[in-house]
Amino acid sequence: MVLEIKNIVKRYNDVLAVDNVSLSIREGEIYGLLGPNGAGKSTTINTILGLTKIDSGSINVFGKDFGSNEMEIKKEIGIVPQDIAVFEDLSAYENVVFFGKLYGLKGSLLTERAKEALEFTGIWEKRESYPKKFSGGMKRRLNIACAIVHQPKLIIMDEPTVGIDPQSRNHILESVKELNRKGSTIIYTSHYMEEVEELCTYITIMDNGRIIAGGTKDELKEMVSSDEKVEIKVSDVNYTLTESLKKMDGVKEVVLEKNMLSIVSARNISNLGKVIDTITESGSEILSLNIERPTLETVFLTLTGRTLRD
Ligand code: ADP
Repeated sequence: MVLEIKNIVKRYNDVLAVDNVSLSIREGEIYGLLGPNGAGKSTTINTILGLTKIDSGSINVFGKDFGSNEMEIKKEIGIVPQDIAVFEDLSAYENVVFFGKLYGLKGSLLTERAKEALEFTGIWEKRESYPKKFSGGMKRRLNIACAIVHQPKLIIMDEPTVGIDPQSRNHILESVKELNRKGSTIIYTSHYMEEVEELCTYITIMDNGRIIAGGTKDELKEMVSSDEKVEIKVSDVNYTLTESLKKMDGVKEVVLEKNMLSIVSARNISNLGKVIDTITESGSEILSLNIERPTLETVFLTLTGRTLRD
């Protein structure tokens, strides 16, 4: 285990920001913390780093109690905070070198690692420029370079793609995968379910300071969905066709609207081939076909009655 959090509680006056949260993160994972704004993700992340003191509970990092091994543990962690933390009056290169020194790097190893970090984040060409002239995406990439210069075992990224351009966003998502391939364990918080679905090997969903579900994306979807829906646009349709579809194995519901057929079937019944055959045999032509699969948004909606972006 890289990180084990047990029953942590954090209260800000009358706001219970983190309510008895427990997490276990294994080495090699890209661990997603998904939840709407205010769910308690940042507070949880900040307790791992000692930036926020917990009211109760325990935190173990790399098998050691965080409180009594803070300095040693912090050297192995890289943090990309939600609010960009770089020095506007230092060049990109000087920023990375500054953070490298904080982590104890020096001499040729420091210059080598600084170059690697800037190349990795795609801003080596801009190393002499000052972040005050950077776009939000470039600043974010610089922040990542500063966080990984010491090649940490655990990298924590708190909403790293908020408010940036699509090109930098894609670059960051690819970087996360690459850092993980190179051996780092990653904790990634986001309220964008698409990102978490794409990246994360394990996902914990938080809401109102609590964990409401956890699993791989397939396990989470399995929890909420027992049906599969297919929408098929056909050239023409008649009563006999809808009746024969209704009689098919696993089919629970057939709705026809204009020339759009919506067919709900029990999961694990692979009847799509037969559905298509039945339609074409009736003399109708299939114009489009859309299989509606549950997303993490469906999971959140089912568990809380709200959408992630409410
Ligand atoms: P998220 O990262 O999921 O958006 P946060 O951890 O930032 O959620 O916030 C959780 C709750 O704690 C929110 O209600 C927020 O307003 C509150 N909160 C966070 N930080 C502070 C603070 N420093 N002082 C008071 N309340 C806070």
